[in-house]
Amino acid sequence: MFINGEWTMGSDNRTQPVHNPADNSVLADFPLASEADCLAAVSAADDAMEVWASTPARERGEILRRAFEIMVEEKDQLTQVIVAENGKAWRDAAAEAAYAAEFFRWFSEEAVRIGGEFRRSPSGDKDLLVTPEPIGVSLLITPWNFPAAMATRKLAPALAAGCTTILKPASETPLTAAYVVDVLNRAGVPQGVVNLILPSPVGKLVGRILQERAVRKLSFTGSTEVGRILLQEAAKTVVSSSMELGGNAPFLVLPEADVDAAVEGAMIAKMRNGGSACTAANRFYVHTSVYEEFSKKLSAAMAATKMGPGTDESNELGALVSMEERDKVAELVSTAVGQGAQVMVGAETPDGGAFYPPTVLRDVSHSMDIAATEIFGPVATLIPFEEIDDAVEMANDTDLGLIAYVYGNLEDGLATARQLEAGMVAVNRAVLSDPAAPSGGIKQSGLGREGGFEGIDEFLETKLVGINPIN
Ligand code: NAP
Repeated sequence: MFINGEWTMGSDNRTQPVHNPADNSVLADFPLASEADCLAAVSAADDAMEVWASTPARERGEILRRAFEIMVEEKDQLTQVIVAENGKAWRDAAAEAAYAAEFFRWFSEEAVRIGGEFRRSPSGDKDLLVTPEPIGVSLLITPWNFPAAMATRKLAPALAAGCTTILKPASETPLTAAYVVDVLNRAGVPQGVVNLILPSPVGKLVGRILQERAVRKLSFTGSTEVGRILLQEAAKTVVSSSMELGGNAPFLVLPEADVDAAVEGAMIAKMRNGGSACTAANRFYVHTSVYEEFSKKLSAAMAATKMGPGTDESNELGALVSMEERDKVAELVSTAVGQGAQVMVGAETPDGGAFYPPTVLRDVSHSMDIAATEIFGPVATLIPFEEIDDAVEMANDTDLGLIAYVYGNLEDGLATARQLEAGMVAVNRAVLSDPAAPSGGIKQSGLGREGGFEGIDEFLETKLVGINPIN
């Protein structure tokens, strides 16, 4: 763990193994943080807050810029670490390393653009200075599916805003987080500004951290289930909370869609990161006029996808993060098949590591469990529809609303996009992720936005200073 500028094994020398899911080997033993370690991290971040907040924005931006440059130079090493502990394909890990670095670049540029306003009251009796201030010590909790990018998407805006941080990565992928923190350390982030801990037991100790008065921000990416628990914990001390939670993305193929483009998009929206993405297309609603063609072409593309360890760069689909995740996906598929879904390709669990094959299920109905659950694996479920309004109704029939995809002619695509209940809608394209894009969900997919101009606002609080009118 990294506390107050030093790598340490922690106060009680407890560790947990980090596994390579492609072969179940142990990669490392990672230190677990006790209550004393958690409080030491809070205290280091609190002590560093005043100096970091008053460090000129230009200087904070330059440190982030150096972090970007180091990460780009070391892209291959970072890719290797991601592949080893997460299991994803090399191409997905390399794309993530590049994407992760971009958040450092984007927020190095945003650091110097934090504004502020001068206003005069309508009656003219006072002048108002409206200044954004760094919110304070920020606890950043990340998932395993994008272990580098989800960390930099929080660290970069927090640091740009002048906040000090405690990063708590997923227990499956702490080595990538350690790499990212090491990059920031080498880029010149001062002592105490970035801390890294793996608290255990997690629920109790994260709750304990949130009780500390110094901690003023919780930024969480993970499941909706854990997000709800954390909102309750944060409520006890009224800690500002940003939540990037689960998705259940619908992918609509409308009557006049270009089927080849839709299949190409489906392969990306479904298979990017092996399907383990909050933005992964989860349910395909396909118009009956193109259903046969789409289902055959998508099945052929899925069948042609090469699966194997991420260390072999020719593999397009790696392992899931753990055997438990693989078993969850297999269970969802076998339940759907039991309920009448037809297997077009895949659905057979191989022996060995945490691999699950590219799978297409057709004749899925909207009421099946698999359509209501975030699959988080390489499984596409196809549901036919006759009327666009029915497809929209089914797409919106969920408590989640992160992202939706639409393929069709531009007029239908845009009209449908307006009706879909999601924080993000991709029309005739399959990837929206970008450091300049404000990502986030509505309904139970989250609160707040990451990336874009909006990302830094999550770490700023408005302060008002009123004065007598300046004449
Ligand atoms: P998760 O189980 O919710 O875990 C996320 C993080 O929360 C991990 O660091 C985990 O730590 C921690 N955690 C678990 N229980 C906790 C508790 N009681 N108190 C405090 N922290 C706790 O999610 P995941 O399985 O890692 O990630 C997959 C989920 O993330 C999916 O639902 C996906 O949609 C979502 N996601 C959303 C976005 C987005 O932008 N909206 C992006 C990526 C992923 P441990 O590992 O130590 O348990």
